[in-house]
Amino acid sequence: MRVDVRDLAPGETLRAAFEEHLTLHGDGQPTEAQAHGEVRIDRTGQGVRLRGRIEAQADLVCSRCLLDFTGTLSVDLDEGFALGSGPQPDGGELGPQDFVQWVGPDHQLDVSEVVRQHLQIAVPMAPLHRPDCRGLCPVCGANWNEQRCEHVSSRGPQGRSDL
Ligand SMILES: [Zn+2]
Ligand SMILES: [Zn+2]
Repeated sequence: MRVDVRDLAPGETLRAAFEEHLTLHGDGQPTEAQAHGEVRIDRTGQGVRLRGRIEAQADLVCSRCLLDFTGTLSVDLDEGFALGSGPQPDGGELGPQDFVQWVGPDHQLDVSEVVRQHLQIAVPMAPLHRPDCRGLCPVCGANWNEQRCEHVSSRGPQGRSDL
């Protein structure tokens, strides 16, 4: 979703439903996410402010038992963007203008990219398909959510007497 902010007069607000399929590129495997929510874009004096609340159904893999499951990510957006072509690299020291996000010279605000970056950060480092997932046996690979194996007592406080 891209919004041409030239269509907005200063003080004007655009509200739009957001519904998109996004691919989140984290450190590991890409995560597919179906995002939906609502955004509002306010035209301010020097730029635009993007706010909204987005939820996404993301395809995650449980970090303990490797089960594929759908997790819900939710993010709140509140980002300001300045209008213009952005700072020109002049080789000088960084100034305040270098830390501002800019809407490019085409005046297109790439809402999808902002949402994608926020959701990417919201992907848990170690997703769990349920909070009490017991995981897989590190010895024989048995799924401890479904069965017990002879190694089940070697993990946990009771099993550490052999250390
Ligand atoms: Zn699990
Ligand atoms: Zn085992």
